[in-house]
Amino acid sequence: MDDSSSSALRPTIGLEIHARLLTRTKAFCACATTYGAPPNTLTCPICLGYPGTLPVLNRAAVRQALRSTAAFRCELARESRFDRKNYLYPDLPKGYQITQAEVPLATGGWLGIHSPTRGEVRIPLLRIHMEEDAGKSLHGAEEGSRIDLNRAGTPLIEVVTAPALESAEEAVACFSRIRQTLMWIGACDGNMEEGSIRCDANVSVSGSDEPGTRVEIKNLNSFRFMARAIEFEIERQSRQLASGRVVVQETRLFDPPSGTTRSMRSKEEANDYRYFPEPDLPHLKITEDEIRATSTDPLELPDERARRYREELALDPGEAETLCSTREISDLFEQTADSSGRPADAAKWVRNDVLRIMKERDAGAPIGIESRQLAELIELTASNVVSSTVARELLDEVWGTSESPDAIVRTRGLEQVQDRELIEGIVRRLMDEHPQEVAEFRGGRDRLLGFFVGRVMKETGGKADPKLATAIARGMLTGE
Ligand code: ZN
Ligand code: MN
Repeated sequence: MDDSSSSALRPTIGLEIHARLLTRTKAFCACATTYGAPPNTLTCPICLGYPGTLPVLNRAAVRQALRSTAAFRCELARESRFDRKNYLYPDLPKGYQITQAEVPLATGGWLGIHSPTRGEVRIPLLRIHMEEDAGKSLHGAEEGSRIDLNRAGTPLIEVVTAPALESAEEAVACFSRIRQTLMWIGACDGNMEEGSIRCDANVSVSGSDEPGTRVEIKNLNSFRFMARAIEFEIERQSRQLASGRVVVQETRLFDPPSGTTRSMRSKEEANDYRYFPEPDLPHLKITEDEIRATSTDPLELPDERARRYREELALDPGEAETLCSTREISDLFEQTADSSGRPADAAKWVRNDVLRIMKERDAGAPIGIESRQLAELIELTASNVVSSTVARELLDEVWGTSESPDAIVRTRGLEQVQDRELIEGIVRRLMDEHPQEVAEFRGGRDRLLGFFVGRVMKETGGKADPKLATAIARGMLTGE
């Protein structure tokens, strides 16, 4: 590849994200939205598209959508409209999807991400609209292809970002932020395996100010695949342009085993959706009450919180993101920092130990520790009452219970031994018992210091303060 021309090629990426809204019932009927029910048990004439049935809009879905538009600081349309998007596919029983094409629920808005190359960036959104999900085709079963319509008619929002992302890393950070924010406000469960949130990426490469031809990559359902698919696509388009060929506008699919994208359909074969206003639904009018009830004030949103962690606590971007990976983790950190008065220690405990135990046990379960217990552990270690090893064991022990680490230390006598005289006594006796080792240490075998410290730790049941024991043993051995 010609370096001089390719170095001037810049990628531009925009995302379209579909998120399933957390509601008990579907968008236009009373069927339950439960995931994993036996196929075709959660359906009715409305979501099966029988003639003569009428959709009725689920106001709880509207509230979840409104809360989402608030979280991304969008401009709300007080009156929006539903349209029919016509296409034929086996998982779409009505032959059309109810969506919002012409007049979406909200336009504009933004979210903050941390870019590895550009630092703090605001990614503008183009729009957020409401629509319904299709059913699911189940391929490859022995019985052939089958359709499960339980999902048909579940409420979605589609979030469309501006083409403002400049790398695969930024695209992943943006998708991740959108998912995290929707989970943060309780609008979506964010479960990617169950398809609760799905991402399409529009990727183009250009050597001038004119935008390049965009290629859509469909159904990126993991962060890892998303990064690889976009990187591959940027490479592929750059090679095309560098060798004087054109990029064809098309839809492509990522193929995980080969790490490549392949063409699904070109622009010529693209669907003509013949949109028209949905005649069975009135315009969607939003009331003052609904706006008030769905405001995200005074909730601190994850992009604001991550920025505050970087700026006020001087955490590096990765640490800041980890600490607010979920609202529960972040709130635990905040409360622990508050009640212990030691934010740096609280950050370390949550990032290292709490997240480790959550991963080891059940990642889906609620956090098994309260800020009160964590603050006690921090205090116990900071004031040298117990060693960090004992504190970590205590964390494991009180996990999932309401027990107080303080109380356990007191009842079991786990306090770290700070008693200088006691430690000196043990070292003196050990020196008497091991004259050979003392002589060798004095002859230059420094490693034997570890032998004495290790024995002190053993004799105190691991409770001696290792730093103090080391200092005392070294002093006595060298004869100072
Ligand atoms: Zn139904
Ligand atoms: Mn859509």
